[in-house]
Amino acid sequence: MRWQDHPPFDPTPIGPLNYNDDAPSPHEPAGARPPFKPERFTDDMVQLRRHVDRLTLACQAMWELIRDRNLATEAELEEKMLEVDLRDGKADGRIATQVLTCPQCGSNTNSRRTQCVICGAPLKKEHLFEG
Ligand SMILES: [Zn+2]
Repeated sequence: MRWQDHPPFDPTPIGPLNYNDDAPSPHEPAGARPPFKPERFTDDMVQLRRHVDRLTLACQAMWELIRDRNLATEAELEEKMLEVDLRDGKADGRIATQVLTCPQCGSNTNSRRTQCVICGAPLKKEHLFEG
């Protein structure tokens, strides 16, 4: 199977883009959180587009360096992409969010965060280009 043949990308929001995280819990008193602001969708979409554009640029530049130095073929690149995709057990065209343990306070957090939400310690990403 080639990576292009994978099932279509699942657009279900994950990590910080999961707006359900902003919904008040039924156990929270009314007004405990600021009201939901739809403009956050636009702000997040602009940031996401910039992130995707930068990743696309970085991937293309790296691929051209590798290809031009005869270090890999396009078939080997596709094979490696599939291998990385399958590390979480699913060929879904993305690197799944992983549960991480904060090195400073020991709290569970996820691999999409850059800082621990409990103590603010910086978190090291396992994958260089993970969003
Ligand atoms: Zn922490």
